[in-house]
Amino acid sequence: MARTFPAQDTSASDWLHLLPKVELHCHLEGSMSPSTVKALAAEHQADFSGVWDGAIPDAFSFEDFPDFGRQYLFGLRLLRSDGALVTAIDDLAETLASQNVRHAELTTTAYSHFHGGMSREHYREELDEGRRLAASRGVSIGWVVDIPRDLEMPDSTDTIDFLEGSILPDGIVGIGLGGYEVGFPAAPYAEHFRRGRALGLASLPHAGETEGADSVRQAIDDLGAVRIGHGIRALEDPELVQLIADAGIFCEVCPTSNLLLGVVNDLANHPFQALREAGVKVCLNTDDPGWFDTDLHTELEIGTNVFGLSPADHVELQLDALTASFASDDVKAAVRAELKAL
Ligand SMILES: [Zn+2]
Repeated sequence: MARTFPAQDTSASDWLHLLPKVELHCHLEGSMSPSTVKALAAEHQADFSGVWDGAIPDAFSFEDFPDFGRQYLFGLRLLRSDGALVTAIDDLAETLASQNVRHAELTTTAYSHFHGGMSREHYREELDEGRRLAASRGVSIGWVVDIPRDLEMPDSTDTIDFLEGSILPDGIVGIGLGGYEVGFPAAPYAEHFRRGRALGLASLPHAGETEGADSVRQAIDDLGAVRIGHGIRALEDPELVQLIADAGIFCEVCPTSNLLLGVVNDLANHPFQALREAGVKVCLNTDDPGWFDTDLHTELEIGTNVFGLSPADHVELQLDALTASFASDDVKAAVRAELKAL
């Protein structure tokens, strides 16, 4: 295994580019770039005056998480014409393939599409078709269908009813819980997650992003989380961090997202390495690459340049992500062999 970045003919950036990669925390609907949002808004003649003044910006910026959520929801609701989801999946898969991402677990918010008028069957068909196109690009996709905690209240069962329908989307691996944690605790969704787990889906909620350690505890105790989206604020409770490390609960860390949404004030202060040093398994992810103008390569470069990761660290993180993924045995064996050969 390479211990240092190769000198001379291969730069650190080139080495990272060639590294076979796994991404576990990326929202399909968060992959839309500003130009895509603009084009879809024009196509649908969507009124954005309550979201942006004057024009849809060329680059997105956010005052805080609720401000991000407001803009994000506007973009999400534009994915409603025939084939729009397929195009979004294929666009994302093209980017993933170009960065040598071999397997990605993508979160998608079914509830919002259903409430935009898309039928359950149509939604499933678009996911299936997009996944086939991604496979033709050499990217294996697993789906995580999430409940938006700040939109779908606990007394709604739309998402879990869909998941309990007779035909699940191909490649679905988990049930998630997304959105703003403040004022929207995880515990009321325990029954939804019990039903999801009964279908064989893994519990993969967000927690410890906009709320602290109690939110992470609820995700583990009430939802049975095996991976946590973000989870970085678990560090506010050392006993909880120990529990996460001992239980092998994996944290999907998203540095640029955390910076842009004010979860950390400076990447230099990001707790990524503190989690690792506490024995928590982690990987680096993009979260919403279109909205945050990032990609997995950029996040890994932050790992090198800010967190001080060596090539051996990067290989270890990819192997850990692969182990924590729900990729097929064939994909796992192939990617593991590629990584071990480095
Ligand atoms: Zn997320």
